Amino acid sequence: MSENLSRRNALMVMGFGAASLACPVRMANVSAANPKRPNILYIMSDDHAAHAIGAYGSRLAKVAPTPNIDRLATEGILLENVFCTNSVCTPSRATILTGQYSQKNGVLDLGGHLEPENQHLPRLINQAGYTTAMIGKWHLKREPATFDYYNVLPGQGSYFNPILREKGKPAVGWAGKPWPNNEKRFAAYDSKHSSDVITDISLRWLQKRDKSRPFFLMHHFKAPHDNFENAERHDWLFENMDIPEPESLWKLPNYGSQATKGMGTSVSPRNKRRNMGMHMNVDQNLPYKEYTHQAYQRYLKKYLRCVKGVDENIGRLLDYLEKEGILDDTVIMYTSDQGMMLGEHDYIDKRWMYEESLRMPFLVRYPKMIKAGSRSDEIINNVDFAPTILELAGAATPGYMQGRSFVPILRGKTPADWPKATYYRYWMHMAHHDNPAHFGVRTKDYKLIFFYGRNYKPGGPKPTRPGWELYNLKKDPHEMSNLYDDPKYAMVVRELKAELKRLREKFGETDQKYPHIRKIIDEYWEK
Ligand code: CA
Repeated sequence: MSENLSRRNALMVMGFGAASLACPVRMANVSAANPKRPNILYIMSDDHAAHAIGAYGSRLAKVAPTPNIDRLATEGILLENVFCTNSVCTPSRATILTGQYSQKNGVLDLGGHLEPENQHLPRLINQAGYTTAMIGKWHLKREPATFDYYNVLPGQGSYFNPILREKGKPAVGWAGKPWPNNEKRFAAYDSKHSSDVITDISLRWLQKRDKSRPFFLMHHFKAPHDNFENAERHDWLFENMDIPEPESLWKLPNYGSQATKGMGTSVSPRNKRRNMGMHMNVDQNLPYKEYTHQAYQRYLKKYLRCVKGVDENIGRLLDYLEKEGILDDTVIMYTSDQGMMLGEHDYIDKRWMYEESLRMPFLVRYPKMIKAGSRSDEIINNVDFAPTILELAGAATPGYMQGRSFVPILRGKTPADWPKATYYRYWMHMAHHDNPAHFGVRTKDYKLIFFYGRNYKPGGPKPTRPGWELYNLKKDPHEMSNLYDDPKYAMVVRELKAELKRLREKFGETDQKYPHIRKIIDEYWEK
């Protein structure tokens, strides 16, 4: 059902007559003509780790600079501690669109979907008088009907010759069929790399948009998600150089626990079922060290070539805004749906609560509010994105959202009662990349993770051994040493467990539907 139709039905139910249906959509709670409200350009890529952005200053910053993304940092703010509530595509996107944790919005894993009536952020910002568009990777399986315009990839979409579905256009050969996520129902669009195509579409929409209203554009790249395919013009990038390797690719002195030893897909040949050397066609007969080195180099080069295409296309978007004369009237945000393990701890993919997967890049440029070159290390969660975007649009956060606006942090003034900890949960026990299910809490100084190791649905992968891990992030930012059993940290563990319990209760993350998980939590809480 389209958004207009559902609103019409809602109005009918509420007893509005046919006369009021002539303009059913803009029942704005804020004046649509308010000229002071900024445009909001929300740019999100897929699996782009913060440490693969120059401005974050990691080992990759020098070899793989990202000048256009870095410009957002030098002319705006870089947020150092933004974390996702669930480090995998569909749930992270659902949290961003709803302002809710997974147990509240019901999107726990990649099988989840978001019905139009639950697409709260675009609906509310549209009601506040914005013209809205969703362009690129959507991955929430139901029609993005709440947007004025959409043009989206089916599921993951293709890197080359992507096909997309555009709002209002009949799908070739499937006219009249419902929306669901079936590639055959999408019309062919273009013949170039997806990052270029998605930007072409956004630029076209920006040119043709309703300029009487501020805009909210969600511009979502597919890149640099696997299987990594870069634009042809980047084929030779990094050709004659070695990408720096993380120390933890080789050395793991006291990392992990009984719950995680040997788990997770690897760069090296450690995981015999799935490792990056297999994906990158490395000679399976090479000795361990050479195999790992080659797998890592091929992995990072392909990934960083995709990042280069993202960065260039962000440059195109900035150029357009500058030419139209609206660069400073537009809040420009850049983020990714979660991070990515780029060989740290010999891991590939995301899902883990470890830093490189948990952290989302987040940069914002809006000179009318944000001081150039500022940074903040306040703890922010992606559940906070929708309330923040709504506040920027002059709209209130509804009571059913669980996040909080960080506009004060963007202004450089952290409220005294700003949260000191964030909650994380990964549900997909041993799916795809062999990660045991877990949850945990992270503060500025510490991270405590409980691997409960159970599938939430009956059946599925077998349970794995539960276990706790504690990392001292100030002394050990790369999480090389699990301190959970160190008696010196007993008090820290006690305090973090209390905070973890409090956050789970506060956000309704108490597993009421999953007694078999609650049982394991109860049994192992004090172990
Ligand atoms: Ca993703």
